[in-house]
Amino acid sequence: LLRTDRLPHVWCPGCGIGIVLNAFLRAFIRSKMDPNKLVVVSGIGCTGRAAGYVNVDSFHTTHGRGIPFAVGIKFARPDLNVVVFSGDGDLFAIGGNHFVNAARRNHDLLIIAVNNFTYGMTGGQHGPTTPTGAYTTTTPYGNPDRPFNIPHLAISLGAPYVARWTTYHVNQIQNSIYHALHKKGFRVIEIISQCPTVYGRRNDMKTPLEMMHYFQKNSVRKDDASFEELELSYNGKIVVGVFRDVQGIPTYEERYEDIIRRARK
Ligand code: SF4
Repeated sequence: LLRTDRLPHVWCPGCGIGIVLNAFLRAFIRSKMDPNKLVVVSGIGCTGRAAGYVNVDSFHTTHGRGIPFAVGIKFARPDLNVVVFSGDGDLFAIGGNHFVNAARRNHDLLIIAVNNFTYGMTGGQHGPTTPTGAYTTTTPYGNPDRPFNIPHLAISLGAPYVARWTTYHVNQIQNSIYHALHKKGFRVIEIISQCPTVYGRRNDMKTPLEMMHYFQKNSVRKDDASFEELELSYNGKIVVGVFRDVQGIPTYEERYEDIIRRARK
């Protein structure tokens, strides 16, 4: 499943994106699903490069537009498993409106959102998930914004599967993706990841290994977490888990099919 002809990859040593891509590929192989029925779509940014390393039909699209491309693909070919694999800036800033509307419609897409708190590729600007007080190239004295609470945003829009992990949780990421691949609707998996090159260095997060130790020590699993607990840093802890897993909510594609069927009668 990996495009070995494109190696070595472009990511910096110690970046967390490779861990997530590895977990995704392993989960997909474990699912025994047909690779000819898998499409990986990504936007622009460090995570957006992931689509180029997956040896299936993949689309490296324009900035923030991974979800609209994916919606179109799913509409044209409802038999395909469409996965959007992209980063926090791409999905929640430039693509934020697409995320919100695709979630409320319950499009049948799996969203793998790698959240490293910054625009890594363009030099470390602050973005919609940068923690309050964090140092970036555009917030040299600290970020005054509040970050998105991604799981809560997805849950409030009715997404049927919502989870969060960190790159420390390799097995959990893999299991979560495996289970989400078998479900329907707008499934969202946020993965907190280290960007040692531009974000970690500015925020004194030391080496990639130490950053993963930080995730290990400062994360706690709580599947029934409240809104406050799902904030990025709740009492200094990153709350991880599967926060929503419900079945039977009709997808947009199913509702659309139903409307067309009834209109034709
Ligand atoms: Fe990873 Fe950051 Fe390097 Fe981008 S800039 S590849 S996110 S470490």
